[in-house]
Amino acid sequence: MSRLTKINQENLREHNLSVVLKTLLASRTPLSRAQLAASTGLTKAAMSLLSNILINSGVVRQLEPAPTSGYGRPATPLGLMADKWVGIGLQINTDGFGFAVVDITGHILQTEWNSRSMVGTNPADIFAELGAMVLPTVASLKKSGHVICGSGLALPGLVRGGSVLLSARNLGWGHLNLADFDVVRRLRPRGGNEADFAAIAQIPGYASSCQSMPNVLKPSDSFIYLSSDVGIGGAIVADGQLTRGLHGYGGEIGHLSVSMTGPVCVCGRRGCLETYAGRRALVENAGIASHHQSASKENAHRLVGAWKAGESKARHAVDLGKRALASALTSVVNTCDIDTIVLGGFWTQFDDQVLTSVQTMIQKSVIADPECTITVLTSPVSNHAALVGAADVGLRVFIDHPSEFLHLGSVSEK
Ligand SMILES: [Zn+2]
Repeated sequence: MSRLTKINQENLREHNLSVVLKTLLASRTPLSRAQLAASTGLTKAAMSLLSNILINSGVVRQLEPAPTSGYGRPATPLGLMADKWVGIGLQINTDGFGFAVVDITGHILQTEWNSRSMVGTNPADIFAELGAMVLPTVASLKKSGHVICGSGLALPGLVRGGSVLLSARNLGWGHLNLADFDVVRRLRPRGGNEADFAAIAQIPGYASSCQSMPNVLKPSDSFIYLSSDVGIGGAIVADGQLTRGLHGYGGEIGHLSVSMTGPVCVCGRRGCLETYAGRRALVENAGIASHHQSASKENAHRLVGAWKAGESKARHAVDLGKRALASALTSVVNTCDIDTIVLGGFWTQFDDQVLTSVQTMIQKSVIADPECTITVLTSPVSNHAALVGAADVGLRVFIDHPSEFLHLGSVSEK
């Protein structure tokens, strides 16, 4: 009986610490103990105890008291400790591979990216190179007293249970057991789909402070995320939570067919969004390149240049892509009743007019028009979003289970 009571108390403390951390991450300003108590519903006495644990473990620190015009002691806000609790993001994508180290304040402490065309590469070679790139950084982070809370590995395909890549068709990679690779065995990242991880990076306060992010989305917002590159991926975020579906493979908006007589897609179906609005399709439809060449970054830059110069084939290809985007996204809005669309990746390289025109087309087509007002945004975190999201996935292990890590950060009392 007494053991059960103890376990419950420990569980309760773990839960409360996690709630306090999530509240701090989701706030645009540092919060005092009293403000945290009010936001979380915890008593001031409990809040005082929990904040002492977080201070003594080096997770938060006391900031300068805010000036007050009233009577009584000014409140002391608590700020998250920078440069100590980190997550490691790894990514292998169609245009290269790399890593990022992100701390709980949302700052990227270190990042490296090797840009190259990845189509037809050998997975063993790429994982070995990724290991050689990231493992020295991991060693030096440990040496300098950082706490590595976890890591994520973003891949351009379907990932089962965080550990098996079923296929990444745009790389030409088939079934891979990720634990076969040394870097995965050593860092034990949670594998996931790149669009899912890029969507996570857009959720303010998911695993790092939202103070480092543009104030565009709120922590509990719902949105449809579209990741556009050679292929097109997608993710649905509802009330600040990624929804993956029953088996974890949901959100594949790129394979939503917009024409039953359209071009054959890599997935075998006809007329998928990806065959009109994917980077490779745009380059081919603009007559810039074909086959393997159409996936290169240089040709993607050429397409954007030709479109900006008003070249008619490029304009036609982008217009076709826009119509396909609007058609597929209208179907998603009609299905999910989510009115905010966040565009990430290649499609953000065009001007605001492209966004506005996609938004107008969707608005006119949604069944709930005019009740439902559509907003199309470019992603607040745009640079290597999946890499940042993968680091967030690692950091989130700490936010969900702080007690497992707190002893690693203990600071001596001064
Ligand atoms: Zn498809």
